[in-house]
Amino acid sequence: MRLIYDFSFPDLASLLLEWDEPSYRAHQIWKGLYRNFWNVPTLFTQLPNRLRLKLAGTLYFDALTPAAIHQSSDKQTIKTLFKLHDSLAIEAVLMKYDQRHTLCVSTQVGCAMGCVFCATGQMGFKRHLSCGEIVAQVMYYARMLAAENEVVTNVVVMGMGEPFHNYDNTMEAIDRLNDPQGYNFGARRFTISTVGLVPVILRFAEEKRQVNLAISLHAADDGMRASMLPVAKRYPIDELLTACHKYVTATGRRITFEWALVNGVNDTPEQARLLAEKLRGLLCHVNAIPLNPTPSYMGQATTRKRAEMFRDILTRSGVPCTIRLRRGLDICAGCGQLISKA
Ligand code: SF4
Repeated sequence: MRLIYDFSFPDLASLLLEWDEPSYRAHQIWKGLYRNFWNVPTLFTQLPNRLRLKLAGTLYFDALTPAAIHQSSDKQTIKTLFKLHDSLAIEAVLMKYDQRHTLCVSTQVGCAMGCVFCATGQMGFKRHLSCGEIVAQVMYYARMLAAENEVVTNVVVMGMGEPFHNYDNTMEAIDRLNDPQGYNFGARRFTISTVGLVPVILRFAEEKRQVNLAISLHAADDGMRASMLPVAKRYPIDELLTACHKYVTATGRRITFEWALVNGVNDTPEQARLLAEKLRGLLCHVNAIPLNPTPSYMGQATTRKRAEMFRDILTRSGVPCTIRLRRGLDICAGCGQLISKA
């Protein structure tokens, strides 16, 4: 059986044509899925019963079964552990800020990149998520928020997995969610994060998408970067930054560099100065965040004072930098903390 969210509109329309259904049925189903967030065939009451039964017998709608829901003590962050059809599991996180509802979605079960400070990397790679499994995470939270008369305002593709390692499915999911006839979620409200897969960054640049790009940098020299992110052995920082320049030239869009501040490691004045030098002339912004703790990494979060010193060196050198708030730590929902465990 195929997952309904894996169907593009033309795929769905041709399936219904095969079933000798009038063409407006595909529009009714699309609207039900992406405007009303219906996730069981019985809700599609404008369809004849025989078609609802056929849909239920041929396709499956329940891509994700919530297995555990955790809410942070400030009630601003909700993390859901979802069981997938093959009993593997992923997590996705909703963060509420003032008027914003930012959703962090996963693209893989586990991750092959092995970043040492990341719980997902520590669990290894299990499999890619399909386009529909990525879309279903957004539909789950869209449905939850709709019940509170709220909407998802931003989607960050920064959950479990390296989205550029599952590029086609991830981009198909973004296109699906972007569809004006469906969910109609603006491309600029997505941010996709990569650890720095240079060939894929170049492909992304060529495609000139409106989606925001974030790159996990974390260190300004190859030695330190490779000790934190194994992928840095394959793509040295200068090669990565050359790809970043090409991206900015092709798209005119600003890049965000993510930097998890580890006390006494990459929060030093030397690293800040080297980073400022490397980023000179690049349209970018640095998002620094004190490291979130994970079980198998001994590094500690930087202090507020050191984080501010790091930021000030960058900003004085003309590189914009902000210190991000850590969210959802009490439910392990922060960056690098997602793992498939209840
Ligand atoms: S930080 Fe991202 S790319 Fe690195 S191991 Fe974790 S999920 Fe994978």
